[in-house]
Amino acid sequence: MIEYRCTWWAPTDRERYWLRRYTSSDKHKCVASGSYCNAMFEIGEDDILYTKDGYIDGREDRKPPVDDPRWPTACGACGRPFAAEDPFQLFGRQVYVCEATGERTTLDQAPVGSCWDAWWISERRKDGPTGCGYMVGPDHRSLVVRLPGNRDWQIDSRASNCTMPDDNEHFCWVRHGSPEDGTLHVDKNGHTCAAGAGSIAVPDFHGFLHHGVLRDC
Ligand SMILES: [Zn+2]
Ligand SMILES: [Zn+2]
Repeated sequence: MIEYRCTWWAPTDRERYWLRRYTSSDKHKCVASGSYCNAMFEIGEDDILYTKDGYIDGREDRKPPVDDPRWPTACGACGRPFAAEDPFQLFGRQVYVCEATGERTTLDQAPVGSCWDAWWISERRKDGPTGCGYMVGPDHRSLVVRLPGNRDWQIDSRASNCTMPDDNEHFCWVRHGSPEDGTLHVDKNGHTCAAGAGSIAVPDFHGFLHHGVLRDC
């Protein structure tokens, strides 16, 4: 049996930045990754600047000039040099902190079992409707759990096998407890549809989140 303790990650007002170069895929297919040519160089952290609406601003002002030597010159996978017309992108990711351990990370690196609020979904729905059709839970949050195989489970979203596709207000997965104190629990006990038994299935994992522990079945 495989088990992962569910850990809570809170957003900070800090962002980590990378200098990113890539070739758009309609122009070239990377021979090593099968995707597009891409390379990123981490340049550190800074305070987030928010837009009037509360979203994260792109901070073009923090982008160094194109002759800065820290810009990658070649694809990180195949080594093909970038062309002058390939984009120079300042790539930012919000920093999250695990309040139990003080550990900090960006969500792409968060370990299996990590839970966070997709606030960019829930923020604008503070006073709005809740339910799977809105991807917003009963506490007006939109909780996500990292699964094995680098998949994310949006607990408050609609299940692919939902039996009430015209009803936006029910919850395909019903959650109880909270991720902050390790009691997050997901089942079918509440206003729900007939899909499944409260488990989550992705290609590398099928299991339940019960009493703060993600467990395969
Ligand atoms: Zn490449
Ligand atoms: Zn449903």
